[in-house]
Amino acid sequence: MGNVTVDPLALAMPVLRPEIAEILDFASGEFLDAAAYIAAKRYDRLVAERVDIREGLDNNPRFGCALCATPVYLVASGKKRFFFRHRREDGSCPSVTRSGLSRADIQALKYDGQRESLAHLRIKERIVRSLTCDLSNSEIVSERQWRSARDPASRRQPDVQAMTVFGRVAFEAQLSTTFLDVVAGRRAFYRDEGALLVWIMAGFDPDYRRMTTDDLLFSNNSNILVVDEETTARSEETGTFHVRVHYRVPELSKGLLVDHWKSTIFPFRDLKVDRQKQTAWAFDYQGQSEELLQVEREASSRADDSLRERLLAFWKSRNQQTPDPVSREAVWQGLMRDISARGVTPPTNDRYDRAITGLINGILSAKEGFPIGWDFKHLVEVAHRVCDGYPEHVLTMGYAIRVYGRETLISAQDKSGKWAKRARSIRKLILEGDQRYLPDEDTLSFLKFVFPEVGSKVEAFLTSDHAKSRL
Ligand SMILES: [Zn+2]
Repeated sequence: MGNVTVDPLALAMPVLRPEIAEILDFASGEFLDAAAYIAAKRYDRLVAERVDIREGLDNNPRFGCALCATPVYLVASGKKRFFFRHRREDGSCPSVTRSGLSRADIQALKYDGQRESLAHLRIKERIVRSLTCDLSNSEIVSERQWRSARDPASRRQPDVQAMTVFGRVAFEAQLSTTFLDVVAGRRAFYRDEGALLVWIMAGFDPDYRRMTTDDLLFSNNSNILVVDEETTARSEETGTFHVRVHYRVPELSKGLLVDHWKSTIFPFRDLKVDRQKQTAWAFDYQGQSEELLQVEREASSRADDSLRERLLAFWKSRNQQTPDPVSREAVWQGLMRDISARGVTPPTNDRYDRAITGLINGILSAKEGFPIGWDFKHLVEVAHRVCDGYPEHVLTMGYAIRVYGRETLISAQDKSGKWAKRARSIRKLILEGDQRYLPDEDTLSFLKFVFPEVGSKVEAFLTSDHAKSRL
């Protein structure tokens, strides 16, 4: 095999299947894909870097193996392809027999490795400094075992722990958020201890969130806590432990919630803390959004009430006998546009009111307790009229009489007992599935909007097994 000469300005090439697939950057605490790291560098620069990496290997290693955190260095193959190798190759690294590891095993190994990184040491050190300068904190210890008060065999080792204004608190520093599944189980441990677990990140950029950051974010009322150099300096200046809080602020836009991000430096002791939920936050995202939605619901319900009132007022003032002038029809069309905008299907017919004449006259009369729209004296006449001309609204009329409590009135008006007899026989036909009395589905959307208390009953009937079995 001859010597392979590589253009120094070309990009470097990784070997195809490296044993060490991922490396840990000790300075940042981040993991890098080994092949991608190599392939992104120019050949001449990577060769120069290789020398530096080799030099620092014993005293100041730059990279470690993602799985065992043993320092690694760059090696070139005979074909001048690159890969990483452990400082000591004693076969103890699980990457050699990677196939035997589950995803959770790999995550746990990487998590342990990352805890030894400089970045992790730095954030831990900042948390300790921030706690120490504030006299309301005591018993501040790093990397000390926390034994369960109930079960001494059960223990955890939080990054930092301290007695604070919130009692005993465990602080876990999160660099890369890919390990949330490894550490999620801890919440239960600290809850059982009557203590609080607080997640601290080294930094946070709302635009570059990984899915797992969202797990942390949404389980903490959309607040992310960060301890960085600036907050640590603030804590030391003021003698009060401060954290940076990134939080979402909800806003209503066209009836929907939208968020924007804000951040502020906030005293730790002023956080709202809930040991049961294991949360610690500054801004109440959930409460604020519920309040906004409630306001929106009330506004929209007021708008619906007003639209309903306008519609019924129009109907009551309409003249049944003589056709309405064009201007009035335009008013009606305007109302129909408004209900369409509410997502309601407006009734249609060649004459604007024909599709719903029987429906509105019948139900509105039941609601008011006297005939509306038709020239009758008594409500019982309205009931007969609906049965004669609008069998598809008979069931609806029946519900309306019950919903608006008009049974007594109707039976008082039904001196001959004709209505009672008719109602009984129709009820029987409906129960037998007589298709003529099947409620009209075309006007259901309209009915539900204008008379929700009646519409919901008709809809329940239509979706009941009883109705379905006969359709
Ligand atoms: Zn290794």
